[in-house]
Amino acid sequence: MSDRGIEYKPDADDPKRVRLTSGLPEGISRAEISYRAAGGLRGTREVRRSAAEFAHLRTAVGSGYDGGWSTPEQLTFGHAERYIEQARHRIRQQDNEVRRIRESIDLTCPWCTRERTYLGALGFVTGVAGILTDRPAEWGQELVHQHAYRCDRCGSMQYFADGFLTHPLPGRPTGDRPRA
Ligand SMILES: [Zn+2]
Repeated sequence: MSDRGIEYKPDADDPKRVRLTSGLPEGISRAEISYRAAGGLRGTREVRRSAAEFAHLRTAVGSGYDGGWSTPEQLTFGHAERYIEQARHRIRQQDNEVRRIRESIDLTCPWCTRERTYLGALGFVTGVAGILTDRPAEWGQELVHQHAYRCDRCGSMQYFADGFLTHPLPGRPTGDRPRA
C-alpha cells in the first residue's frame, strides 16, 4: 500500500496526528488530522487515536510551510478515516496513472527495431541570442536536464524532460519488441 504523502505521528498504529501532502481534494496542498479529547487549556487536547473522542481537520492552500492553515473543523472518527482513505485512494490512482504512462512508452529505435539504452540525465545549456549577434548571451543561459536514451546501433536519441516521470523507463513488455 502506498503511504507516500501520508505521515503518521508518532506511529501509524495509534497516531496522534496524520499529515497529508498528497492525494488531497482540488486546491488543498496540505491537511492535518489530529485526534483529540476534551480537556486542556483550549478545551481539547491532542491524544492518541485509541484515547480520542473526535478528530480535528485543518487544511492549507499554497506552498508555504507555516501559516495559511484553516481553523480546525471537528470530525467524527468515521469522517477522519474516510478523509485519509480517500487521499490514499487518490494517491493510488495517481501512481497507477504514472505507471500506465511509463509502461506505454516505446523505446524502440524505429530503424533498428531494438530498444534504446538509457544514458542518464544530460544537461543542456540553453540561451538567447545576444544583442546584435547570433552568439548566445551569457545572461540568458540555463541548464536543462533531459533523460536520454540512445540506440547503440545507429546512435539515434530519444529525450524526456526531467520532472515528469522517473527514469529509466521500463520500456514496453517483451513481445512488442523483436528478439535480439
Ligand atoms: Zn537505431
